[in-house]
Amino acid sequence: MLKIENLHAEIDGKAILNGLTLEVGAGEIHAIMGPNGAGKSTLAYVLGGRPGYEVTDGSVTFDGRDLLDMEPDERAAAGLFLGFQYPVEIPGVSNVQFLRTALNAQRRTRGEAEISAGDFLRVTREQADALGISMDMMKRNVNVGFSGGEKKRNEMVQMGLLDPRLAVLDETDSGLDIDALRVVGEGINRIMRAPDKAVLLITHYQRLLDIVQPNRVHILAGGRIVRSGGPELALQLEREGYREVAA
Ligand code: ADP
Ligand code: MG
Ligand code: MG
Repeated sequence: MLKIENLHAEIDGKAILNGLTLEVGAGEIHAIMGPNGAGKSTLAYVLGGRPGYEVTDGSVTFDGRDLLDMEPDERAAAGLFLGFQYPVEIPGVSNVQFLRTALNAQRRTRGEAEISAGDFLRVTREQADALGISMDMMKRNVNVGFSGGEKKRNEMVQMGLLDPRLAVLDETDSGLDIDALRVVGEGINRIMRAPDKAVLLITHYQRLLDIVQPNRVHILAGGRIVRSGGPELALQLEREGYREVAA
């Protein structure tokens, strides 16, 4: 589904990704772990098409299509979802307005009709309920005054509504307490564990991988994948640290 080959990318002329190669098949969950500054967030941003990140070599295909050639909205319409370590606050825009706009933008780009008000409310309520978010909170401005855990759960509501085929989740577990971690982890399983979907889960912690069990674990260091393995690799990392395992 996702095929990254020899990806090189830079920011402000500084090389960050240095020949990253990674393949993720449909139905798979891949964890990406690695020391701070390794390029994990950069990989997520490059996949999302964030301005300022320049790809200087390599290729990325998504379902055989050249992802790097697509605009960010085309990537979203094709089924790519990005979850961020620090979800943005949007004063003046309510959560429901934001979600409806995002969902309809995705539908328009796909050539589909806009969702009806009734259907939108129904699916929003379903997703919010599943993640323990009240409809009152859905009416508040996007993430404004939300706790860290509420922001992450809110992000899972967005993901549930947009129903992506590929989710790239950057440190979704950061700042979560134990209960919120379980809610978010189970949300990822519920929304994304399917034969035609895949997840790239960027995380530092085994505790998320206990809930969202990965098929493969990769260590990203110095802008490339330096080691890959099964779930046991994450456990080894937890015991021994990056310095030992990635050397
Ligand atoms: P990680 O998510 O693995 O901690 P990042 O992808 O955030 O790593 O960062 C990788 C490297 O790129 C770091 O050395 C960081 O300082 C650098 N970097 C990130 N963003 C910028 C930027 N906007 N300008 C210059 N350097 C950046
Ligand atoms: Mg980091
Ligand atoms: Mg990061």
